[in-house]
Amino acid sequence: MKIDLSSMTITKAHEAMKNGDFTAVDLAQAYLDEAKKRNPEINAYLEIYDDVIEQAKVADEKIAEVKKSSYAKASKDKQRSKDFPMLLGIPFAIKDNILIKGRIASSASKILENYRATYDATVIEKLKKEGVVFIGRTNMDEFAMGGSTENSAYGVTKNPHHTSRVAGGSSGGSAAALAMDGALAALGSDTGGSIRQPASFNGLVGLKPTYGRVSRSGVMSMGSSLDQIGPFGKTVTDAEIVYNAIKGQDALDGTTISDATYSPKRVGQQKPVIGIPRHFLTGDGIAKDVLANLDESLEHFYQLGYEIKEIKLPNISHALPAYYVIMPAEVSSNLSRFDGVKYGLHKDGVDGIDDYFETRGRGFGKEARRRILLGTYVLSSGYYEAYYNRANAVRRIITQDFLKAFEDVDVIITPTTPAPAFKIGEKTADPVVMYLEDIFTVTANLTGLPAMSVPSGFSEIEGKKLPLGLQMIARHGDEKTLFEVGKEFQGEMIN
Ligand code: GLN
Repeated sequence: MKIDLSSMTITKAHEAMKNGDFTAVDLAQAYLDEAKKRNPEINAYLEIYDDVIEQAKVADEKIAEVKKSSYAKASKDKQRSKDFPMLLGIPFAIKDNILIKGRIASSASKILENYRATYDATVIEKLKKEGVVFIGRTNMDEFAMGGSTENSAYGVTKNPHHTSRVAGGSSGGSAAALAMDGALAALGSDTGGSIRQPASFNGLVGLKPTYGRVSRSGVMSMGSSLDQIGPFGKTVTDAEIVYNAIKGQDALDGTTISDATYSPKRVGQQKPVIGIPRHFLTGDGIAKDVLANLDESLEHFYQLGYEIKEIKLPNISHALPAYYVIMPAEVSSNLSRFDGVKYGLHKDGVDGIDDYFETRGRGFGKEARRRILLGTYVLSSGYYEAYYNRANAVRRIITQDFLKAFEDVDVIITPTTPAPAFKIGEKTADPVVMYLEDIFTVTANLTGLPAMSVPSGFSEIEGKKLPLGLQMIARHGDEKTLFEVGKEFQGEMIN
């Protein structure tokens, strides 16, 4: 049978497999065919696995088991869904910095070209328990440093909506895999916007959970105090389903939190109250279409009965500089493990020290080297106080500003990015121009707040429709409000 992938969602696929309309093998085959057809042009996948159909067969066996056992006996629908995991048989794309035991995980770097993971990331373990089907590993900026996948050692990922433009980054491959119908859901990692920005460039939903909600065990660390793994989905409901499957406290990541850690309280009586930091939405860097789209979106919220308030985040303009001090500091420390001894590439020099220079000099790309140098500098004695400590003080102040704003509102809205997907090569000459891409997204990482990008419309460029995204930020631990507001905005059913 022919499966219509363009309108497929996790919920629909789940129902269809439950009713026997199609099998997990049918679904996997459909995505595999599309992935193989589109990937040579898009370069979303660094590798499409050769055991996809075998994985789907295992999923079908599980489905058969579920149907035979309690499922067949149970008369209630409720019982059925309990026994039939939501993600059983769902085709996934996984970012190349998340470990799947026995498979290559390179973080799109030459230094880990042939590195095979020796264990499963906690999120992967959870997805395996659900019975998902992994289609492949996706392209990214090397070690997740970038906003366009142009820093990948394996070529850029093109935007399926307009192939002379970037798919965003660093999780550009995961987003493009979904946008080209090469998978139904995906995982990415977000240190400063790497899920939300590509989600916005590809017309998808992307969630950066509250810091500590999702275990980082098995994701290659970039900035450990900022990193979170999160889902990409075609709908808010799909992103929520994946989030529910991967979240939870984990003994392997001491920074994970329990559901009881935060108890967010809303101020809105009927509906969450929306806050807009207007003062931060000025300046020439923000495209006219983006601002017009924001106003349309706010109008939509207004029609839906939301109260919208203007808020002040007095120190928010310092977020980007603080991020670009703290993040490289953590990068320089995290990437020191790639020394050519324990993992991946090894190049011989004249002596032991020279081995490091050879290995790291050849194994890391330009942006990775730039950030290692910058990070080492800001952490060095004499500069530590002036840069690193000061940036951390700014981080605390910005967090206070947000907590204060959340005394009056329940969700803060901004555009996800200052402009739609840019041209391939347009921002590679000047790193600062590229860094400005992250202006709206880094604050959620600095503060640990949950943030989600949802599709909000299009910008017409060169006769093509480029997706735009709206970012919603909520209190610590309040993903629930994001899902609720996101679903209402998208016209999805609220459960
Ligand atoms: N674009 C940002 C950076 O280059 C964010 C990266 C990320 O979230 N991994 O640091």
